[in-house]
Amino acid sequence: MRRLVRTARAYRSAQEASRATHASGAGGSSRADGVEPGPAVVGLVPTMGFLHEGHLSLARRARSECDLVVMSVFVNPTQFGPEEDLESYPRDLGRDVAVAEEAGVDVVFHPSAAEMYAPGHATWVDVEGLTEHLCGASRPGHFRGVTTVVSKLFAVCEPDRAYFGSKDAQQALVIRRMARDLDQAVEVIVCPTMRESDGLAMSSRNAYLTPAERAQAPVLRRALVEAEVSISGGERDPRVVVAAVVGRLAEAPSASVDYVEVVSTTDLRPTDRIDGEVLVAAAIRLGATRLIDNVVVSPPG
Ligand code: AMP
Repeated sequence: MRRLVRTARAYRSAQEASRATHASGAGGSSRADGVEPGPAVVGLVPTMGFLHEGHLSLARRARSECDLVVMSVFVNPTQFGPEEDLESYPRDLGRDVAVAEEAGVDVVFHPSAAEMYAPGHATWVDVEGLTEHLCGASRPGHFRGVTTVVSKLFAVCEPDRAYFGSKDAQQALVIRRMARDLDQAVEVIVCPTMRESDGLAMSSRNAYLTPAERAQAPVLRRALVEAEVSISGGERDPRVVVAAVVGRLAEAPSASVDYVEVVSTTDLRPTDRIDGEVLVAAAIRLGATRLIDNVVVSPPG
């Protein structure tokens, strides 16, 4: 069964059909050994579409671990600020459905904004603390939009597992905390960042970059790898690490720094001294395009 569905109701009937197929032993689950198949495991890959290898790596991982793989493609208006790129965000549903299917996705859930947000929608999910720094500081309201829509996707799609990328490390931590705090019965699985051959993290927004900006973009990865090397080599002062990253980024003439922070991987708060595992995260603007990336590093000894 491979389908594009646009409403919660259509998704539910697709899921029912898949569960019935699974329970009957058809569609891959064999009863040759006389063992009844367990309940179908549903994997969800939430995306905003304009798919690249990063998204598809999540889909393939879900395919290898789940019976039914659903990918949502929804450019969620509530996670964009008023000055952000909601209108211009790249979209190509036809291609998305084709490449998602190749990666093993069973159902693409592509709701309209009206389907997801009924008139008078007034209920929000807010994860406190973890959303104060990094992207939360520079994009007010962003994570409220993310956690609200992901909660709604969990409610509609009823996944057993949901797959997120570590490029958006803060998002993954926030969602894991939300699922725990709200007793959402879903396992949050965080997968590695897929990169272009020059190290640039894949992102739908890379499509905005002019050729000159694209040529400068790998500086973000280079700067973060240097931070990793420096911490692994014994640097314990986050100020020194941040200054070196900012210095490296300044070499790209079109880049302006949004933030560079060294934070604890448990609460995402800035740390005074690098004593345990830290997340070094950065966001830059290259012209009109905002890029983020990060490394997780543990100091030696
Ligand atoms: P987006 O469509 O940008 O909202 O991303 C949807 C999901 O794909 C999120 O969980 C992202 O973290 C993940 N993702 C985006 N870029 C990458 C990448 N380069 N490698 C792995 N996962 C990614």
